[in-house]
Amino acid sequence: MKQTIGVLAVQGAFEEHIKALKKLDTDCIEIRKPSDLTNHSLDGLVLPGGESTVIGKLLRELELFEPIKKMIIEGLPVLGTCAGLILLASKITEDETIHFGTMNMVARRNAYGRQLGSFVTEAEFDACGKTPMVFIRAPYIESVGVDVEILARVDNHIVAARQNNMVVTSFHPELTADLTVHQYFLRLVQQKAKTCVA
Ligand code: GLN
Repeated sequence: MKQTIGVLAVQGAFEEHIKALKKLDTDCIEIRKPSDLTNHSLDGLVLPGGESTVIGKLLRELELFEPIKKMIIEGLPVLGTCAGLILLASKITEDETIHFGTMNMVARRNAYGRQLGSFVTEAEFDACGKTPMVFIRAPYIESVGVDVEILARVDNHIVAARQNNMVVTSFHPELTADLTVHQYFLRLVQQKAKTCVA
């Protein structure tokens, strides 16, 4: 059966995620209002890159914040990229803001400064081999809790990690033709679905 993945579509790079997920034969639902969450049986959710402050504000205004937080806590597989990573972080460096705060990690926003605002590189992603990584005013993860698995590092900084049902990347996997990260996420979605059935 096809997997149904919700993609938060209030701001940022959501269309590119949909294109990548469709290449992997999934059904995608754009999430813009609470009924988009309830009218479909979602197997997973993507929180795209964009501007975390803006996305956080829109989530609250559109009354998506609480239902999404509840779904994540209840175990819905979620992929947070760039701003999506910031939304999931339990702590943001030098910032009192916490959005969902469900993932045990400290994220630093705009961690690469202005000089190196955007760049492309390649690094190992989990056991999946070298993966192209596009960084745009990206955060990185300064530290993680014991329950968090590190999936990728660039220049000694953590740029991808997983905690149970949550996968995050500080780069934009949807902006290259490489589907490694989306494939990794869909394998997690499949595993979680099996666990629920069992
Ligand atoms: N700099 C953005 C933020 O702080 C994230 C950038 C991105 O998602 N490409 O939210």
